[in-house]
Amino acid sequence: MKTPSQVAQVLVDVPGLPALDYAVPEDMDVAIGDRVSVTVVTRAMVGIVVGLSDTSDVPLNKLKKLRSVFRDMPPLGADWLALTRFAATYYIRRWGEVALSALPTFMKRNPTPTQAKRFVALRELPKAKPLPYEAPPTLNDEQAQALARITQAQGFEPFLLFGVTGSGKTEVYLHAIESVLEKDPDAQVLLLVPEINLTPQLENRVRARFPNETVVSMHSELADGARAKAWLAVHEGRARVLIGTRLAVFASVKKLGLVIVDEEHDPSFKAGDGSRFSARDLAVWRAKHAQVPVILGSATPSLETWAQQKEGRYTCLTLGGRAVAKATLPSLELVPPPGPYDEAILTPYVVEQMEAVLSQGRQVLVFLNRRGYASSVSCPACEWVSTCEHCSTFTVFHKAEGRLICHHCGTSKRLPPACPSCGNVDILPRGHGTERLEETLATLFPGKTVLRIDRDRIQGKRQADAAFKKVHQGEVDILVGTQMIAKGHDFKHVGLVVILNADAQLMSPDLRAREHLFATLVQVAGRAGRHGEKGRVLVQTRYPEDGFFRALERQDYPAFADPLLAERHDNYAVPYVHQALLTCRAKGLQDALFFLKNAQREGFALMGDTVRVYDPVPMSILKLHDEERAQLLVEADSRVDLNRFLWAWTQTFPRCGDQAYSLEVDPASV
Ligand code: ADP
Ligand code: ZN
Ligand code: ZN
Repeated sequence: MKTPSQVAQVLVDVPGLPALDYAVPEDMDVAIGDRVSVTVVTRAMVGIVVGLSDTSDVPLNKLKKLRSVFRDMPPLGADWLALTRFAATYYIRRWGEVALSALPTFMKRNPTPTQAKRFVALRELPKAKPLPYEAPPTLNDEQAQALARITQAQGFEPFLLFGVTGSGKTEVYLHAIESVLEKDPDAQVLLLVPEINLTPQLENRVRARFPNETVVSMHSELADGARAKAWLAVHEGRARVLIGTRLAVFASVKKLGLVIVDEEHDPSFKAGDGSRFSARDLAVWRAKHAQVPVILGSATPSLETWAQQKEGRYTCLTLGGRAVAKATLPSLELVPPPGPYDEAILTPYVVEQMEAVLSQGRQVLVFLNRRGYASSVSCPACEWVSTCEHCSTFTVFHKAEGRLICHHCGTSKRLPPACPSCGNVDILPRGHGTERLEETLATLFPGKTVLRIDRDRIQGKRQADAAFKKVHQGEVDILVGTQMIAKGHDFKHVGLVVILNADAQLMSPDLRAREHLFATLVQVAGRAGRHGEKGRVLVQTRYPEDGFFRALERQDYPAFADPLLAERHDNYAVPYVHQALLTCRAKGLQDALFFLKNAQREGFALMGDTVRVYDPVPMSILKLHDEERAQLLVEADSRVDLNRFLWAWTQTFPRCGDQAYSLEVDPASV
C-alpha cells in the first residue's frame, strides 16, 4: 500500500507568496489539482494543491495543517495547471494569482454546508430553448478544401483561416467542430470570440447546429452563478462546446479536441485589466500542449499571425469570395472630407449617395469612432478649451446630459453657461461625435429612422441585442455608431456604409494604430451588401494616395500587410523583436521617471547582448486620474531572452514605494 503524502504544496493568491507547504492530516486524502481550505497567517482561504511530497524545508511538526479538502468536483487537471503556470511564467506573474483568478468566484469560497448544497444546483444548466435544427449549407470548394485540410491534421497544427468578411469562415468552424465531436465522443471544443462578437446570433447558430450537445458560453457580463455553471460543465466534460471571450481561454477543459479563435486580430483578446495576457497566444499554446489543431480566423490577421504564416509555421487556408450566392464584396470609394473650415461633417456628395440608397428602401450605416456630441467645447473669444482637471485630456461634450465628460477617468461636469476664462456666453462645440452626427442625420433626412449605437446609448448585452434586432428587422433606416457596429453582425439590408474621420487614427503614432484601423475599416465595410445586392462603401479621407487607403480601396489585406511587415523587418521592429513595457504612475512625473531611471540602471547591468533597455519617456497622455505616467520599453531578440531578463530584472524593483508600476509583456500599444 502507498503511504499517503505528508506535505502538500498549495497555491494561494496572496502577493509575495509562492506555493506554500501544508501538512496533510492523516485521515485526509488529497490529490494534485484539488481545491483545499488553508490558513494563511490567520485567514482561511481556498488554495489549489500543485504538489505532494514527504518532505518540506520547514520541519513537519511546524507546518500548518490543511483545514479541509473540497470533494465537490473532480480535481483540476495537469493540463490546466500547466497552462496557468505557463501564463504566469510568460507574463511575469505569480502562479497563484493567475490560477486562482482563473477560477469562478464560486469555486473560491470557503466550504460551508450551504455552499455544498448550492454546488449541486450548479450542475443544472438553464434549459436552452430548443432551436430548429439547421441543416448546414453545402460548402463551396474553398470551404471544403479548408475543412479537409483541418480534419486531416494530426496532433497540433496551427491554421490561419484567411477569409474576407462573409466568406463563410464560421461555416468552416461549425463543420470542423462537427467532425471533432463525431470522431471522439469525449472531445470538447473551445471557440474564442471577441467580447463584442458573442452575440445571440452566433450562439444560436452553434446551438442550432448541435441540438444534441451541450453548448455553453462565457463572457465578462455573466453573473457569478451562471459563470460557475458553464465553467463546471466544461470542467466535467458535460459541455462539448464552449464559446467564450478572452477569459474563457483559462477554462478547465476535460478533453480538448480543437481550439478556434475567431477574429484572431481583435485587440479585445489582449485588452482588459491587470494581467493583460493575450488570449489568442494562450489559445495557441493550449492547442500545442494538448496536441490538437487550432484555427485562427480573420479577414485581417494580426501582423504576428501573418508573419507566422509567411514563414511557414502556420498553414494558410484562404477563402477568397463571399459565401452567399451572388453576394460580392462591396465596392469602396475614397472621397474627400468637407474642408477644414466647413462645419459640416458630410459632403453634399455623400448625402446624395445616402439619399439614393435610402430611397431604394435599403439601410445606411455611418461609422464614426468618437462618442459624445463634440470632442470639446471652446471659446472663440479667448483660448479656453474644455479640459479634464485630473487628466491631460480634453473633456467631451455630451449634449443630452448637458455635461463635459472625460473619457479617460469618467469625471463629469455640467457645461458652464459661459466661458470660465473670459465670460463669453458663445462657447462652441468643436469636432463631431456620434451624438452630434445623429442630430445632423435626423435633420438631413427627416422621416427616416436614425438609430445610434455606442456605449452611451447602449449599455450591456441586453440593450445591444434589442437594438440590433431592430436593425435586423428593418425598423431602422440609418444606423450610426462606433466600433460597436463594426463587428460580426450579419446585416441583411445594408446597402451603403459611410466611414468618417478615419484619418485621425491613421496619423496616430501608436505602433499598431494602422493595423487596428485597417481591420476595423474592413470589418465596417464588410457590413454592406452581405446578401445579394451589391453594397457600396464611401470613405472620407484627405489621404487617398496613402498606401493604406490604396490597399483598403481594393480590400487587399496582403497589399497592406506585406509592405508593412517588410518595413518592420528592416527596422527591426515587432513582430521581429519581443517587447515588454514598464509603466510607472506617480503623483508627479519626476517621481515616475526617477523610478524608471533606477529600473533602467538595473536593467543595463542585466541585459547582456540580446536585450535592449530604452530610456524612460513620459506617456502621450501624461496625466490620468491625477497621476503622471511614464514608461520604459525593453526589447529582446527572442522570447526566451526577454523572459529570462524580465524575471531577473523585476527582482530588483523596490517592494514598496510611492509609485505604482505595471509590466506588460508583448504590449498592445507602444
Ligand atoms: P464569415 O464568418 O466569414 O463572416 P459566415 O460563415 O458568417 O462568414 O457566412 C456568411 C453568410 O454566408 C452566412 O449567412 C452563412 O450562412 C452563409 N454561408 C456560409 N457558407 C455558405 C455556403 N457554403 N453556401 C451558402 N451560404 C453560406
Ligand atoms: Zn473665453
Ligand atoms: Zn480625466
